[in-house]
Amino acid sequence: MMRFPISDTSPIRFPGPPPAACDVVVLGGGVIGVMTAWFLAERGLKVTLCEKGRIAGEQSSRNWGWIRQQGRDFGELPIMMESLRLWKSLSQEFGEALGFRQEGVLYLAKTEREIANFETWLAEAKPYGVDSHMMTGGAVAEKLKGSSKAWIGGLHTPSDARGEPWTAVPLLATGAQARGAVILENCAVRRLDVQAGRVAGVFTEQGRIACDQVVVAGGAWSALFLRAEGVEIPQLAVLASVAATEPMAEIFPGNACDDDFAFRRRQDGGYSIAPGSGHDFWIGPDAFRNLRTYLPVLKKDFRSTGFRPAAPKGFPDAWGTKRRWGGDETSPFEGIRVLNPAPNMDRIARVQAFFAEAFPGLGRPRLRAAWAGMIDTMPDVVPVVDRVGRIPGLTIATGMSGHGFGIGPGMGRVVADLVAGNDPGHDLRRFRLARFTDGSALTPGPSL
Ligand SMILES: Cc1cc2nc3c(=O)[nH]c(=O)nc-3n(C[C@H](O)[C@H](O)[C@H](O)COP(=O)(O)OP(=O)(O)OC[C@H]3O[C@@H](n4cnc5c(N)ncnc54)[C@H](O)[C@@H]3O)c2cc1C
Repeated sequence: MMRFPISDTSPIRFPGPPPAACDVVVLGGGVIGVMTAWFLAERGLKVTLCEKGRIAGEQSSRNWGWIRQQGRDFGELPIMMESLRLWKSLSQEFGEALGFRQEGVLYLAKTEREIANFETWLAEAKPYGVDSHMMTGGAVAEKLKGSSKAWIGGLHTPSDARGEPWTAVPLLATGAQARGAVILENCAVRRLDVQAGRVAGVFTEQGRIACDQVVVAGGAWSALFLRAEGVEIPQLAVLASVAATEPMAEIFPGNACDDDFAFRRRQDGGYSIAPGSGHDFWIGPDAFRNLRTYLPVLKKDFRSTGFRPAAPKGFPDAWGTKRRWGGDETSPFEGIRVLNPAPNMDRIARVQAFFAEAFPGLGRPRLRAAWAGMIDTMPDVVPVVDRVGRIPGLTIATGMSGHGFGIGPGMGRVVADLVAGNDPGHDLRRFRLARFTDGSALTPGPSL
């Protein structure tokens, strides 16, 4: 099987060197950090992006590649619609290499309850102007060539899209660089340098960079970084497994799923396949700390979650991971350059079986690669995008909760304007940091 294309042994494409000073340091070279740096540079700010490992080494290369409005939380939907417009213009700049294709997203229902959930979402989504619509079982059967499963209906958004994560995000980083952003790989940010109560710089493993603004877009590592600065976010990391098949006949050109399995047509003629809802979770100190906050989602997801007692050594919430360190000390971020957990092959085997059962004409898909990623999730399944009042100059953009790839360009634009002091153009109250402490009830997003 093919090795995952981005790892800690991949050649460094963005060597630096680090500047002594800039306006904004962005921590994290996933799609959120990259697109934030892109728009900050476009706004004329001097921006440095520090990535501890490789650009897009973690979630931003490992995801399914779905760019979807469908099933979105309504706080995110307007940003996602902007993001889709941005993806279209990015695909004009980068051409086929992004793998951007608007071939639609289709959710498949096996039960009346699922149909009712889709209809509830659709009724609220319609006023936003999305082109989503319900489909009958007959229409679904016509759309999915050769399917043997009797889905009773579906929710379909023809304008939704797909991209090729592991080629797209590194390309977007070259675009940010071309606009003036300095991008550094193998450059962990260890700590903030806070002076007189506000951000004065960062301590990185390659030295101090003076700046008066920092954006934390560290994916699954954000909570660990922020906690060392006295800022708590109830973020946990969930293991999600994926596989890519060998090229096979086309059954649907877009992305589709039910709660058993999900598939997305790939540019190489295969499919990215994954469990529809199953994932795994390693219990660690943060899990205990945040247990109460997570009870509502836990109740919903309990059966689809595989619990394991301890994360591998050095993972963000592993039992032995260091929680305190100084700016001149080696930090946990240098211990694991690229989080590369082993996929759960039992889950992948079940997905192969579901696929073969649903499309008997194609048989059991043969795998070209299998991998996993650590999803940075929040208890209400929507991110934190906010300034930290207690530390002026610090902005958080993290916890995309398993759907940050599609929204990446739009969210990057929003975060850049927030940092630049411009109107972000969308209502960001749903993503405020204080929601975890101000006594308001947490409302989980639809996570459809
Ligand atoms: C299996 C899987 C399937 C998914 N499917 C989809 C999908 O179909 N559609 C969708 O929209 N989303 C999907 N997602 C979610 C999506 O991939 C993420 O929400 C998105 O990539 C998050 O981007 P990010 O930039 O916030 O984080 P990441 O991509 O995780 O990037 C964070 C980066 O920060 C770096 N970092 C952390 N700490 C430091 C530090 N101290 N110093 C320097 N660098 C640091 C890390 O090395 C990492 O590269 C999926 C995720 C997974 C894992």
